[in-house]
Amino acid sequence: MKDISCKLLVIGAGPGGYVCAIRAGQLGVDTVIVEQAKPGGTCLTIGCIPSKALIHAADEFLKVKEFAGGNDPLGISLADPSIDMKKTIAWKDRIVGRLTTGVAGLLKKAGVKSIQGRARFRDGKTVVVDTETGEQMIRAEQIVIATGSVPVELPFLPFGGAVISSTEALSLKQVPDELAVVGGGYIGLELGMAFAKLGAKVTVVEAADKVLPLYDADLTRPVVKRLGQLGIEVLTGAKAKGLAKKGGLTIETADGAEKTVKADKVLVTVGRKPLMDGWGREEIDIDLDGRFIKIDDQCRTSMRGIYAIGDVTGEPMLAHRAMAQGEMVAEIVAGQKRSWDKQSIPAVCFTDPEIVSVGLSPEEAKKAGREVKIGQFPFAANGRAMTLQSEDGFVRIIARADNHVVLGIQAVGAGVSELSAAFSLAIEMGARLEDIAGTIHAHPTQSEGFVESALKALGHALHI
Ligand code: FAD
Ligand code: NAD
Repeated sequence: MKDISCKLLVIGAGPGGYVCAIRAGQLGVDTVIVEQAKPGGTCLTIGCIPSKALIHAADEFLKVKEFAGGNDPLGISLADPSIDMKKTIAWKDRIVGRLTTGVAGLLKKAGVKSIQGRARFRDGKTVVVDTETGEQMIRAEQIVIATGSVPVELPFLPFGGAVISSTEALSLKQVPDELAVVGGGYIGLELGMAFAKLGAKVTVVEAADKVLPLYDADLTRPVVKRLGQLGIEVLTGAKAKGLAKKGGLTIETADGAEKTVKADKVLVTVGRKPLMDGWGREEIDIDLDGRFIKIDDQCRTSMRGIYAIGDVTGEPMLAHRAMAQGEMVAEIVAGQKRSWDKQSIPAVCFTDPEIVSVGLSPEEAKKAGREVKIGQFPFAANGRAMTLQSEDGFVRIIARADNHVVLGIQAVGAGVSELSAAFSLAIEMGARLEDIAGTIHAHPTQSEGFVESALKALGHALHI
């Protein structure tokens, strides 16, 4: 196979890598991208998109099941519904197919050369790709490592058989009767709640003393309440020990007792780790930051001409961070002056209800030594939330006490993921409480909770 020379080589076509390659192509940079699986990476094929598809299907199914319960306050009734998971998964796969084909098309449109196969560094300027038709040598002036992350495996619960990761959970052809979820973080709760709505008896085993330990107790309270309503048993301070001999999961409870959790599937979601093997790290000399690749504010590694972006570079391991880094690196390679200057990276947890957090929480602001003003507005006082039968939750805003510049905004409630755009924009643009209070928010919308939280922080909320 003839060697290829290019200006930019991107290894991995997840949201970090494919956005980097598209932007570089748009800017006229001669770019090659190598992907061993499908374009779109974890996010489009086994992560963000498939999980949100499953969550939507579960929400729809629960809704009709509740209508069939005979007690619906809206007066809707119907016969007992059922779900055909094979069709649900086929629908999810069609969405994934549309998106991965779309990414391949966007790369082509931007003039990027895509190569399918596993890339391995030979040295700092050369990569060899194992393709279906043999080895392809690629020489590049600049190389971006965007190899992403993989699920953490527990040594006493190796993946296989009844023990599954999110990847297998998103392609189950049948809803398990009993599902044990080890790890009550993002994936454990998003998927655990979805499977409970689809009919599984779900038990969550969480090592920390609360689920979603990243978020404060006020934000997680409505989610914890909903877990109970869905019949999900949550065991906090509990440790998984291994598969029980007669089936199920052996755990040690918070008070030290051994117990077996009934389960025909055990979903292990105890975090993800950067993918550091299989791409020839040993052939180059890059510094690490803990288990991640060390980068500076331009995503440069310690080796000249080699960049790293996305999950392989650290927390938060989120698709939109990877994309923003990819876009920045492409512009740097094209000669533009760019560095990481983002004010915040929004975090959204697609539980029921959803949680959004942008910027600092009250505790983080206080730890940073800030005098703050906090305003919180409950959805119980929001007309739109009432009409959506979704009154649980609130919007909370944290601002500097002296000049009212907003430091953080959080919300928990049905559908609040869509409010993350307004929250991020406010923080990125350096909004003050008065800017938000002075903006007309359409009525009736849940976003009125946002303006009311700012008014509350200023001491004159109108609707509470
Ligand atoms: P990845 O998407 O992991 O892509 C890396 C790519 O590199 C892969 O396609 C891989 O095949 C390829 N690769 C690796 N090594 C090689 C090699 N040697 N040669 C060629 N190719 C290689 N994030 C959110 O922001 N929102 C969400 O709602 C969300 N939900 C999630 C749900 C689940 C179930 C999971 C697992 C993750 C979720 N995430 C979510 C996280 C998100 O998927 C990741 O943060 C994101 O995909 C990281 O992008 P990346 O480009 O760094 O890596
Ligand atoms: P996570 O870090 O969100 O949660 C892991 C949970 O497992 C934590 O609560 C932790 O305390 C617990 N835990 C760790 N070891 C344990 C053990 N031995 N026994 C019991 N509990 C244990 O990790 P995740 O849910 O696997 O998700 C991985 C990453 O994927 C997330 O950190 C996030 O970056 C990304 N993700 C994001 C979204 C989103 O943006 N909506 C959704 C899914 C995944």
